[in-house]
Amino acid sequence: MPASRKPQGRPRAGLIFGDLWDFDPAPETADPKLRERYDLFIGGRFVRPRSGKYFDSINPANERKLADIALAGPADVDAAYRAAAGAFRSWAATPGRERGKYLFRIARLLQDRAREFAVAETMDGGKPIRESRDFDVPMAAAHFFYHAGWADKLEYVAPGRAVAPLGVVGQVIPWNFPLLMLAWKLAPALAMGNCVVLKPAETTSITALKLAGILQDAGLPPGVVNFVTGAGKTGALVMGHPGAAKVAFTGSTEVGKAIMRQLAGTDRRMTMELGGKAANIVFDDAPIDQAVEGIVDGIFFNQGHVCCAGSRLLVHEPVADLVTSKLKNRIRVLRVGDPLDKNTDLGAINSRAQLATIRRLVAAGVREGAVMFQPPCRLPERGFYFPPTLFTGVTQSHRIAREEIFGPVLSILTFRTVDEAIEKANNTPYGLSAGVWTDKGSRILRMSTELKAGVVWANTFNRFDPSSPFGGYKESGFGREGGRQGLLDYARYASPP
Ligand code: NDP
Repeated sequence: MPASRKPQGRPRAGLIFGDLWDFDPAPETADPKLRERYDLFIGGRFVRPRSGKYFDSINPANERKLADIALAGPADVDAAYRAAAGAFRSWAATPGRERGKYLFRIARLLQDRAREFAVAETMDGGKPIRESRDFDVPMAAAHFFYHAGWADKLEYVAPGRAVAPLGVVGQVIPWNFPLLMLAWKLAPALAMGNCVVLKPAETTSITALKLAGILQDAGLPPGVVNFVTGAGKTGALVMGHPGAAKVAFTGSTEVGKAIMRQLAGTDRRMTMELGGKAANIVFDDAPIDQAVEGIVDGIFFNQGHVCCAGSRLLVHEPVADLVTSKLKNRIRVLRVGDPLDKNTDLGAINSRAQLATIRRLVAAGVREGAVMFQPPCRLPERGFYFPPTLFTGVTQSHRIAREEIFGPVLSILTFRTVDEAIEKANNTPYGLSAGVWTDKGSRILRMSTELKAGVVWANTFNRFDPSSPFGGYKESGFGREGGRQGLLDYARYASPP
């Protein structure tokens, strides 16, 4: 290695990888099979919106238009609910083992077309192909498989009591895991015998509409699932429609509260999966190198567009300097850039609006006196990108410690005692997830009891499984998705206890 290429200014300890080598581009080349125009999926068919209006879906990695997406208005949402209501009686009466077969078929067809879906998801949302290929698409298929297995065993969902479907369910999902969130919502609803009207996020509708093709290929009866696309107004129509027996929403706490206000006084069942500001807590007896990997995964996975992201790092004071220096060293070698490149660690920020939000909150962090670290990295000229960012010297009152940034930005705070760690971790209106890194099992048990979070990971982070219920406390929402508990949220009791 020429002396001029030797890295400067790094901590001496530790192995150094990364910018010692240039990586050749390794683009994923599978054909995403995109259409120029996507219509609404209502009653098992693609139909034009009554208004005749369409909006652009943009690739955030290069700002190029991918497709026209139909804009659903009140008449379209109404038509979707009518189609779902028309299909409900026969779908609910279909034996569970038959409903299970449809779900198995959907899962298998998704697996067959996994690369195509992964590329489409990456182009539409900006996430690295490694993640859509290895996480989003396989996990979405896993949710359909898991719930297919439940469909003929529903008597065990609530042992001793018979359960029945609710009716037509209205669902609205965000843009960070478009296909996966859709699977989380569709699979339990269908397994239980409900019909669905779902709205994907405005910036990421494409994989839902591609999945509509799979539903057709699987022979799912028309009307059981309906997709209406559009922005927040369409979402409000889906949530507020009188034909919904239940609404299930995943998105920001602000919009979740607005929906709850909108539905106050109705007897609508609700599930709310909202925002988070998770604490990832590292004790001095933790396996530090593993913890550093967990911290990096916790905040930089999917550019930090993760509701349960470990965005507040709480480090035990004796190891705070060590952990911070290892983290800085580690994020110097994260590769930011073309999401379709298999070497990319951080892809594009989902939209111009989200990039502006991240910039605004990062500027507030600097203004309020926290110390920012960003490794030198070249960002592509076109598209929406933000470098991995750490803040030290963060106090609990800083906005970057309180507000959900939903980007690749980590706020580092320290603590001295277990009680202080618990108090600081719980000092947030949110309660979705947390992480604990320590060698002591007893400490893990105590922390998992006292942390007010729906999920507590120990010596790992961001682990998901369809059999494990996921959901929040406090302003992170209520209701669970996944596992037996998730199915119960789509059921009513048909027999007394
Ligand atoms: P938003 O709340 O802005 O949007 C979520 C969905 O709701 C989108 O489809 C959006 O449409 C739609 N929507 C917007 N306004 C309304 C309205 N008034 N009535 C009904 N629907 C509406 O969230 P983001 O898309 O920005 O997603 C990020 C948020 O989602 C973060 O806070 C994150 O923590 C949370 N989230 C929570 C998860 C959990 O499991 N708890 C999982 C993933 C994300 P459009 O996109 O067109 O505006």
